[in-house]
Amino acid sequence: MENQDKLALSIQIEMLQFNLMRMRTVAWTMMYVTAIIIIIHYGEVFFTKTERAMVPAYIGIHTILFYIDLAVLLFVKEKRIKVTTLNLRKYESILLTYIYTILLLITVITVMDVYFFKHAALYEVLFLLICIVFSIPFLKIFWIMLITVLPILISAYLSVGISGESIKIFLPMFLIIPIGLIIQRHIFKAQRQFTKQHILLQEEMTKSKNLSKLLAEKNNELSEQVLRDTLTNLPNRRAFNNKLTQIGQQLSKPKSLFVMMIDIDFFKNLNDYYGHIQGDEALIKVSALLDEITEKYNAFAARWGGEEFVIVSQHAAKFSEHVCEEILEEVRNLNIRHERSKVANIVTVSIGMCHAKISNSEQLKACCVLADQALYTAKQNGRNNFFSKNGNFDKDI
Ligand code: GH3
Ligand code: MG
Ligand code: MG
Repeated sequence: MENQDKLALSIQIEMLQFNLMRMRTVAWTMMYVTAIIIIIHYGEVFFTKTERAMVPAYIGIHTILFYIDLAVLLFVKEKRIKVTTLNLRKYESILLTYIYTILLLITVITVMDVYFFKHAALYEVLFLLICIVFSIPFLKIFWIMLITVLPILISAYLSVGISGESIKIFLPMFLIIPIGLIIQRHIFKAQRQFTKQHILLQEEMTKSKNLSKLLAEKNNELSEQVLRDTLTNLPNRRAFNNKLTQIGQQLSKPKSLFVMMIDIDFFKNLNDYYGHIQGDEALIKVSALLDEITEKYNAFAARWGGEEFVIVSQHAAKFSEHVCEEILEEVRNLNIRHERSKVANIVTVSIGMCHAKISNSEQLKACCVLADQALYTAKQNGRNNFFSKNGNFDKDI
């Protein structure tokens, strides 16, 4: 609900800003009307001799009024006074104050110079027009109109009496009121309809935005899951392949690289003796340990499959044989019982490592094969140890 109010207000503000543009048109119209009146002065169509004598004064008055109009516009629009929640009412008061001031001013002038009633009447009509375009309810200027119209009517009566001329002037003035009311009603209705539709649209947009966000989140979650091994939560074989592709793509010059294959010793026996659940627990513990160690060395570990893991490190300076020693020792320190192992009564691993300077994806794959071969050697050498191979691809480079 709060959002709807905010939205309705923002639409109102948008409309006001649009109306400001229309106000500019009104101001210019005012100037043209003034110019026409002046031309009429000279053309001796409407005005008496006395009035014509007042032409310079009229020009002065209209110019001043026009510049007041422009000043209001400049103040609100050109100075970029942003119509916001806080100054929305203020903005309306500025406009109303402006209308009140001008109406009072022309009333005073009309009282001082009864022949001014035509101009005053014109301004009354113009302000009614301003109310229409600005969606300011007529009621807001009703009293000031009533107060100012009286001296205008008296001035008209005193200067020309009830004549064809005064009727010609006042008839459009009184006609504008019902016409204005109809137009204003129409504008209000359209505005309400527009606001309603806008709110509905905005709600739909918010809903669909939230849905897209949820979808994106779920998508991310899903792609995360696709790349993770469900049992150990380590990156899976697919993630490892992606990593290799990524490394291959980033190879702009030969790079020193380590690949490690790690395999739990006599794991089948552990499964057979303790059961698969115990076997799974051992896998989880070893995975967590490898994850911890690789994080420390800024390397990447994945479950290759079964009880085999793979580590790749691009930070050759940090990574070397000592990491193999560390892994062997830390796995032993996990102290997972394994009565059926032929190397110890606890879980141990064997590691095959390949260190190579690679310059393309083929060499990267070859490095993995070498690490696997090294693992085989480590197994043959009695397990619970590591074997290291150097990939010499120099001749290929
Ligand atoms: P070696 O020392 O030569 O590596 O002997 P090993 O028994 O470890 O090797 P082998 O490849 O014969 O056995 C691997 C076993 O790992 C076979 C399979 O039952 C078990 N295994 C593979 N994946 C899982 C798993 O997700 N959970 C459990 N509990 N066991 C698994
Ligand atoms: Mg194996
Ligand atoms: Mg094994």
